[in-house]
Amino acid sequence: MLRGRTNGCTLERILPLRHLCTNRADVNLSQVIFFTNRMSGTPKEEVVAKFLDASSRGNEAEVTSLLSAVPSLLEQTDSRGWTALMLAARSGHTAVVQTLLRHGCDRSRVNSSGQTASDVAKFWGHQHVSVLLGEEDGDGVGLENYFGAEPLDRLSAKRTDAAWLEDRKKHPGSVFLLFSDLSPMLHHDQQHLCRLGYEAIKDLLEKPDSLLVFLGVEKRRSSTTGSERALEELPAWFAISSGEDGAALLARCLHGERKCSFASSPHRDLLNLSDEDAGVLAPARALLAWHRRYAFCSTCGSATVSEEGGHKRRCCKQQCPSNRGVHNTCYPRTDPVVIMLVVHPGGNQCLLGRKSVFPAGMFSCLAGFVEPGETLEAAARREVCEESGVRVGAVRYVSCQPWPMPSQLMIGCHCVAVTTDISVDRSEIEEARWFPRQEVMEALLGGESRQSGLILPPKQTIAHQLLRHWISKAANL
Ligand SMILES: [Zn+2]
Repeated sequence: MLRGRTNGCTLERILPLRHLCTNRADVNLSQVIFFTNRMSGTPKEEVVAKFLDASSRGNEAEVTSLLSAVPSLLEQTDSRGWTALMLAARSGHTAVVQTLLRHGCDRSRVNSSGQTASDVAKFWGHQHVSVLLGEEDGDGVGLENYFGAEPLDRLSAKRTDAAWLEDRKKHPGSVFLLFSDLSPMLHHDQQHLCRLGYEAIKDLLEKPDSLLVFLGVEKRRSSTTGSERALEELPAWFAISSGEDGAALLARCLHGERKCSFASSPHRDLLNLSDEDAGVLAPARALLAWHRRYAFCSTCGSATVSEEGGHKRRCCKQQCPSNRGVHNTCYPRTDPVVIMLVVHPGGNQCLLGRKSVFPAGMFSCLAGFVEPGETLEAAARREVCEESGVRVGAVRYVSCQPWPMPSQLMIGCHCVAVTTDISVDRSEIEEARWFPRQEVMEALLGGESRQSGLILPPKQTIAHQLLRHWISKAANL
């Protein structure tokens, strides 16, 4: 219907975008022609520059207006291969990123240095943007570290409300995750935790060796409909630990109906979960492990009992000092561990070490527990020096990861070395070496052509993410 209004050209020839002709009644044709090279159908250079600049400055109104006039601007790049999405991500402009995504821009495009918009957002620390971009990355890693997702609202204020907890426990919508010897019952796909209802586990709740922990409720905003829900509509989640044998539990709770099993190897089986289930598992397993180890009071040696939905243990001896005031012996512990990617002073090598228990060829970042009264920076410098003999200057926090084996918090840092000679403490690690960036990149990306036998930890580990973060750095960022 538009033929003849632009010197015999169809809009498809001017702008190779079908929806412009069919869906956009508000398109101003003179504007389209002004903005585009009539022969090639691509936007004029000055318009591309204007569009990229607006994206970079976070001017969402201008970006929207230009896109309405010339939709093909969406994937245009500057001389370094940067799209509008990358430029908006670099400066953390959420509204522009959302607009570009809504228009269907390709988030997987890479610039001339091989970085996606998500890489750029991560590098510049714009977590809110990297989460937006990561939602549909589809690489299974997402932008948070594995075990770090928070799919539930912990609702800590309700832990002391015994009547509310009792009511939620019996609610038909409540979800129970069953553990045997700290291993969760897994769905047969091995990627999900087995979700049980109250009827399946109510007998277990009566047993003296069972333990129940309130994990929280599902988030108010429904992930399926997007609507807000009232508190009483939100399914509550619990973890329940039983002293019964795993096979007996499977028979008792499932009646042979479903193919579920208990994880047999925490370090292997618990790394295959979906990101959301890994995020639920982390607090559940850490809490249950704490209960198992703290059955007796560390102040007086008397027995302790679980309280506050499993988030506190109280000493049974009334006169015990731990029952007066607040004591950290009554609450679940988290042990801080620093894990460091040490970069060579020249910038193009990193220091990795291996323990004798690692598979052949595997190297990883150095790590160690933070000691009492120690800063993260001091702990990082001390651990690197003790294990490898290398001295470290600047220490920069990157990200952290809960690690429920049983309850560490892995605090990931990048460090810059000020010395390069290696002297390994063999009681801690077997070997440490400087690895060139190229070799690390090839080991991360895989591929058949790589020559090195270097094997790096899997993507679920923060060591892997620290390495990826280092590789993603480039002058172009
Ligand atoms: Zn006590």
